[in-house]
Amino acid sequence: MLDNYLAYPVTGTDIWYYFVCKRELWLMMRKIAPDQEDENVDIGRFLHEYYSKRGKEEIDLGSGKIDRLKKVKGKLIAQEIKKSARFRESSRFQLLFYLYQLKKMGIEATGELLFAEEKTKEKVELNDENEKQLLNAIKDIQNYVDMPVPPPPQKIKFCHKCAYREYCWAGEE
Ligand code: SF4
Repeated sequence: MLDNYLAYPVTGTDIWYYFVCKRELWLMMRKIAPDQEDENVDIGRFLHEYYSKRGKEEIDLGSGKIDRLKKVKGKLIAQEIKKSARFRESSRFQLLFYLYQLKKMGIEATGELLFAEEKTKEKVELNDENEKQLLNAIKDIQNYVDMPVPPPPQKIKFCHKCAYREYCWAGEE
């Protein structure tokens, strides 16, 4: 298994940021706090607390926490609850990462993404192709560990709601 040989233990959160923005990944890896007043930080915090209070049992895999693990007709389903489908690709790969971690433990499961705003659900399954993409991402994340400065900002559709936008684009908006 590739990630057993890597120096930096990649987490589900790293995977999430990797597929959103490499610069954000670098900032988060160094725990450089985003703007805590940003409404997106608040909404994320609210959702986390809301679902926690409803008794949602997180499953700690060490490399991240699955929001919920349930058994339906004898089959395990790992569920992740997301604020919206805006970060669909990141959400999908983060869940694939958890399915991969379970697979390494000998646990077979499929995944489900629940998007709170849209009230929609998406099935996620590990296959040869997406597992290869995932392993490439895990490998590539190692390149950002020793990078002394963050990759330059690149304007993407997520910038305008990113909690780092002041840091990246101060004076340009
Ligand atoms: S503002 Fe844009 S470039 Fe900067 S970290 Fe956020 S998404 Fe990345």
